[in-house]
Amino acid sequence: MTIRIEILKERCKGCGICIAVCQMEVLRLSGDTNEQGYAYPVVEKNESCLICGLCEMVCPDFAIWVRQEEEEAMP
Ligand code: SF4
Ligand code: SF4
Repeated sequence: MTIRIEILKERCKGCGICIAVCQMEVLRLSGDTNEQGYAYPVVEKNESCLICGLCEMVCPDFAIWVRQEEEEAMP
């Protein structure tokens, strides 16, 4: 099982709510900014993610979401 945290940085307004709600400190604010001038979250500790979905639920701009993907089966 692979955890994928997708962040659409151009939608992000840099509010930091997703970072604040993540109890596992998976996310941190980037030192970089998007085209609108907002710092956006980046994934720091993907392996710590609990797939709780809180970051996705609280984002007012639908800029972050979490997916679980099955590993590709070996041929
Ligand atoms: S799904 Fe939960 S644990 Fe994973 S990054 Fe979002 S808030 Fe953190
Ligand atoms: S909650 Fe959404 S808008 Fe706010 S920093 Fe996170 S991704 Fe960006």
